[in-house]
Amino acid sequence: MLGRVPEYRNLIGGELVRADRTMDTVNPATGEVWAQIPASGAREAEAAVAAARAAFPAWSAMPALGRAHFLRKVSELFGRHAEELARLETRDNGRILRDTLKKDLPGMAYLWQLAAGQCLDAVKGDTVVLGPDTLGLTRREPYGVAVCIIPWNSPVSTFSAKAAYALAAGNTVIVKPAEQASASVLRLGELLAEVFPPGVLNIVSGLGEEVGDALVRHRDVAKVSLTGSTATGQAITRASADALKPLTFELGGKSPNIVFPDADLDAAAQGVTVNSVYTGNAGQVCVAGSRILVHRSIWDDLLGRIRRICAGLVLDDPLDLATTMGPIVSAGQFERVRSYLETAEKEGAELVFGGRAGAEVVPGLPGGYWVAPTLYTTEDNGLRICQEEIFGPVAVAIPFESDEQALAIANDSPYGLAAGVWTRDLGRAHRFVRDLESGTVWVNTYRQMPPGLPFGGVKDSGYGHDSVLEYTREKAAIIQI
Ligand code: NAD
Repeated sequence: MLGRVPEYRNLIGGELVRADRTMDTVNPATGEVWAQIPASGAREAEAAVAAARAAFPAWSAMPALGRAHFLRKVSELFGRHAEELARLETRDNGRILRDTLKKDLPGMAYLWQLAAGQCLDAVKGDTVVLGPDTLGLTRREPYGVAVCIIPWNSPVSTFSAKAAYALAAGNTVIVKPAEQASASVLRLGELLAEVFPPGVLNIVSGLGEEVGDALVRHRDVAKVSLTGSTATGQAITRASADALKPLTFELGGKSPNIVFPDADLDAAAQGVTVNSVYTGNAGQVCVAGSRILVHRSIWDDLLGRIRRICAGLVLDDPLDLATTMGPIVSAGQFERVRSYLETAEKEGAELVFGGRAGAEVVPGLPGGYWVAPTLYTTEDNGLRICQEEIFGPVAVAIPFESDEQALAIANDSPYGLAAGVWTRDLGRAHRFVRDLESGTVWVNTYRQMPPGLPFGGVKDSGYGHDSVLEYTREKAAIIQI
């Protein structure tokens, strides 16, 4: 503890260490500083890379089943600490406890088990008989030091989705959590310090343009994986261009959720609101279905249902299990969302509910960053609020009249992360799965992201996806007998 608030430290070389500087971390529900986290810079980046580099030979030489043993220990640890980590994360980033405790954290024990089971995949190669006396074979090898940069909206889940697979493949890892919400990952680091040999897993918190950039540029970092915004993906591409580093990017989105008249409208109304752009972390999820495309024949009916569902949402303390929608993560993000509410007005979008008046909602928690659920309508998918990621509880409904028009509007986006289709027509469902420019398509469901299926995007939403093989490279050998 430092003064009144807890202080979290970096994990470097198996030690919990202070950085030269610290920064505040704020509870977004109240606006209060509740902890201090390291504001790491070039020195800490250098130390983390040195530790990871030193640990690489032994970790990568370990038989795959040996690495699996360590990953299973992490899985067991999640079994014991899930509730503590869920509460911490909710306090830190405002994601409602209903989600962190009931959905996110329970899945982590399974994810680390799955990664443990995949350690062998990372060392499987092919044998090709090239002739009676000539044998070809392939080897999969880890890159070396892998840097995993994560956002603030689901820190422990994103940490796990990257670190588990990178470690399974035999890389040593440095995780850089986001400056807005690092506490749950740093606490996890305290627990993991007891699990891995020193230097195998390192965690350094700090600003993206400081420690993040220093890690990306470091000559001994062989692989970079980012989950974050498109702008950060572009900055990392530029910073790593000279060294031609292999990159994995899971980036932003502006996902369409398309509702046809033959859909189960109860399920569709729930799907486009509750599990998507509103209760889904107050819209702060990459796959938020922030464009709701509605067939004109069911326009009034569906919008009425959405309105009724949103009127019943409970905006309150995210640590209360009765709360169904939490705050915006930070003052900066709050201002960004508000600016889009102004943009919507200027662009002439029609407000159905929420809007600027709802951006000051302070439900008994003065000082927090609250925006009420907001819905606009427009006929023009070219508006900025239809093209740009807002990352808040703000959706736009757009009418369509034919399958062709729905598809054209859906694909008219710089992004291609996810899409939802609500229909009972099997042929239409398959045609949209085929034709939507999107990394994931959900049919009659939304935001199911089971580990084991690829999750990534196309266009400005990135390329590649976290998996064991993504953290390996292939070598060929030709052997003349
Ligand atoms: P962000 O891009 O601002 O930050 C993400 C991470 O990158 C943070 O750790 C940040 O410190 C770091 N960073 C920033 N600039 C950097 C630089 N120049 N060099 C190295 N690191 C740098 O994103 P955010 O605001 O934290 O998160 C929201 C964004 O993340 C949204 O666009 C959202 O769609 C996206 N996201 C995508 C997925 C996905 O799986 N596709 C999941 C969650 C969030």
